[in-house]
Amino acid sequence: MTTDSIYTEIIMYHNKEGHNKHRLEAPSHVERGHNPNCGDDLTLQVNVEKGIIKEAAFVGTGCAISTAAMSIMIDLVKGKSVQEAQELVSIYLEMIRGHKIAHEDLERLEDAQIFESLQNMPARVKCGTLGWHCMRVILESLEPQTSEAE
Ligand SMILES: [Zn+2]
Repeated sequence: MTTDSIYTEIIMYHNKEGHNKHRLEAPSHVERGHNPNCGDDLTLQVNVEKGIIKEAAFVGTGCAISTAAMSIMIDLVKGKSVQEAQELVSIYLEMIRGHKIAHEDLERLEDAQIFESLQNMPARVKCGTLGWHCMRVILESLEPQTSEAE
């Protein structure tokens, strides 16, 4: 299988209705990401409990890249601690910016590594980072609460 077809397959899988694309019953945090250049309009919903991302899902409409990037991000951070999720968000955004990332850090991104090629597609960068920016905003809003709980 070529890299291109793996890429296509992962993107198609995450664009299927229902995988992470649904509404949460009672999300603790909601963040909307809007990319007018492409028409992506996705809303991330998460449930954070005792510093752990218990549940995450998204609703809205977006292109194949923004939808897949959001869904893969959700798979990656679900069940992780807030601190771990923050690290993953930083690694991903650094990768997209084209910065040099240590091999072991890249591996932590699992399927999200497929978006590394976006650094050569400036027009699609906003699609590939939309969901991650939503997550970052939510995680930043959590920081004071996390330290209180510890
Ligand atoms: Zn897009």
